[in-house]
Amino acid sequence: MRIGILGGTFNPIHYGHLRSAEEVRKALKLDEIRFIPSALPPHKPKDEVASAADRLEMVRIALEGYSSYVCDPVEVERGGPTYTLDTLKELARTTSDEDEMFFIIGADAFLELSTWYEPKQVLNAVSFAVTLRGNQNTAEYIEAILKVIREIEPGSCFDEFLREIKFADNERVIKFIPITEVDISATRIRQCIRASSSIRHLLPREVELFIIRRQLYRYSGIAH
Ligand code: ATP
Repeated sequence: MRIGILGGTFNPIHYGHLRSAEEVRKALKLDEIRFIPSALPPHKPKDEVASAADRLEMVRIALEGYSSYVCDPVEVERGGPTYTLDTLKELARTTSDEDEMFFIIGADAFLELSTWYEPKQVLNAVSFAVTLRGNQNTAEYIEAILKVIREIEPGSCFDEFLREIKFADNERVIKFIPITEVDISATRIRQCIRASSSIRHLLPREVELFIIRRQLYRYSGIAH
């Protein structure tokens, strides 16, 4: 199986996540994408983050009816801070050696790789699908990423034809996938809710109804 891993805060999940997952699934011919909500999102004020249980439930609701999308509670169940390396080790237990995994990540987040816990081990553990949105799809952006990777793995090189970074002594790859720019973020959705403006068509209707029911993000009535 070819499996995509899509981690995130999903606070809440929205159509930006779902559309990019779909485009990566098609581009890499993935059989399955696992959406993995984080337990404790770093760098985010506590009162802005819905509980892990609610975020997990919203992902479950959003993925209902899509056979190739799976909600994976691995990080929420483990609790505590999220280290990608720990998650990958845990996923290795629920996948077979023949499975090929791609960690899906936005180019801006991937540029921060050197600040992650054990970046070299992470690079050696999994292939990456790096999404390029709108003005990120440029040679300069790829060059900036290559620079970050070379500091960690000096032997890596960019294959222009395949649009992927290869490593000298490792079969893993970093694939670049241009995707449609969908101007939706969880931040914007939370702002709309606080301002009592409509969030319709930014996320699945069932997730919107869950937010209303649970009164998440200081909900006090959404315009329709
Ligand atoms: P926030 O606004 O709270 O920071 P977010 O909307 O960026 O949240 P995350 O849960 O932090 O959502 O993102 C998880 C993953 O989804 C990241 O890799 C991020 O790059 C990607 N992502 C988020 N929004 C979009 C979007 N509109 N289009 C494509 N990818 C997205």
